[in-house]
Amino acid sequence: MRRLRNVKIVATLGPASNDYDMIRALFEAGADVFRLNMSHGDHAEIGERHKIIRQIERDTGRPIAILADLQGPKLRVGTFANGEEELTEGQSFRLDLDEAEGDSSRVRLPHREIFEALEPGAHLLVNDGKIKLRVKSCGKDHADCEVLVGGTISNRKGVNVPDVVLPLAALSEKDRKDLEFVCGLGVDWLALSFVQRAADVAEARALAKGRAAILSKIEKPAAVKSFEEILEVSDGIMVARGDLGVELPVQNVPPIQKRLVRKCRAAAKPVIVATQMLESMIESPMPTRAEVSDVATAIYEGADAVMLSAESAAGSYPIEAVTTMNNVALEVESDATYYNIIDASRGGDKKTIADAIVSAAREIAETTPITAICCYSQSGTTALLVARERPHVPIIAMTAVEATARRLCLSWGLHCAITEEVDRFKSAVVNAVRAAIAEGFAQPEDNIVVTAGVPFNQPGTTNILRVAPCEERLIFKTEPE
Ligand code: PGA
Ligand code: MN
Repeated sequence: MRRLRNVKIVATLGPASNDYDMIRALFEAGADVFRLNMSHGDHAEIGERHKIIRQIERDTGRPIAILADLQGPKLRVGTFANGEEELTEGQSFRLDLDEAEGDSSRVRLPHREIFEALEPGAHLLVNDGKIKLRVKSCGKDHADCEVLVGGTISNRKGVNVPDVVLPLAALSEKDRKDLEFVCGLGVDWLALSFVQRAADVAEARALAKGRAAILSKIEKPAAVKSFEEILEVSDGIMVARGDLGVELPVQNVPPIQKRLVRKCRAAAKPVIVATQMLESMIESPMPTRAEVSDVATAIYEGADAVMLSAESAAGSYPIEAVTTMNNVALEVESDATYYNIIDASRGGDKKTIADAIVSAAREIAETTPITAICCYSQSGTTALLVARERPHVPIIAMTAVEATARRLCLSWGLHCAITEEVDRFKSAVVNAVRAAIAEGFAQPEDNIVVTAGVPFNQPGTTNILRVAPCEERLIFKTEPE
């Protein structure tokens, strides 16, 4: 089974998508990666969804990536005696460490470190930025604020502190437990929420111990500022526009999205554009024109993946949402403007033999009618380099490592095939040709490009490029051992 598009679709699972039939239908409609959101659902539910995805993988014979999204150091207020209170513009409101339930003049904010970092003039945003507070004065255990924008504040609403680099650990106690749990199940990607600095990523990587690739969610101004350092130590990036649009003025989000997508491609690391892409489809079978345009824009920009959140996790039309993304992708990618933009933004640092080989593979695809590029990739690095070239023909990533095939499902244009280990050039070419034909990427009369590395089965050795005929009889005659 093959997709007819390059951009990948990430679908978040939740109460609206937690049984086999629904998850299978989402996969068939086009979801390439499933996101398990650790902010919602208990371990039993998460484990059940994980099991179903692996079952679908076996039933369809296709690798599927699972991305576990850790909640991160999300700040929340305590509870109110009345459940909720109305804050009005201009009034005073205190946040403190007092365990008593809140009222219209104060509430608990159970994070001691925050009070130590706050300064007069700093802003606090409550409930997705709907309520805005400014700190007038503060001490070690409280902050007295002025309400700049009022609204209803209720139990355990989220708090964002955009102006301050918070002295918080990258992973909370809950995150550490969740990380162990999902790594025990076996996930391919771990997403880190509210990353502030490169050291946060290193902390998670040390805990993951190679069991999953690390994806940093960019949703804090501090992360935008030190993006280069964060990208350097991450395996992938999410433009997490939800919280980013709370912590920064919303109009700053589109240019940041464009810049981040470009930098990720240059670094040959996958980037997901996320949040509110088809928001209205939570309740409606039809998207708004603006949403369709937003999905299209991310695809024209060259994002590796577009993501559904509540649309697939908690909405009434999960399958329609995936289908909509799939249809938008098919349309955008067949528009001539698409490759004009993609080709014009090719770049990145190229110094290695693998860089030269993959760019030669792309040039052969531009010059001659080969129908696919088949790349052997142990660690996934070569496949990512081929994807960075954004060739106009399909890419088949051949690997003997199941974890690599799964991780690569997130990356632009990669169709992953798990193959047995090969130790001779001839068998590498034969297997590549067989995979290309079996999966519908070539006919016997076609030629394909095969890249591989000798010695075989060692990461980082890509050093061969072969234009191979797809007729097996020919291969056996012409191919060197
Ligand atoms: P979330 O992250 O859905 O976990 O909040 C995405 C975002 O903030 O955009
Ligand atoms: Mn977020």
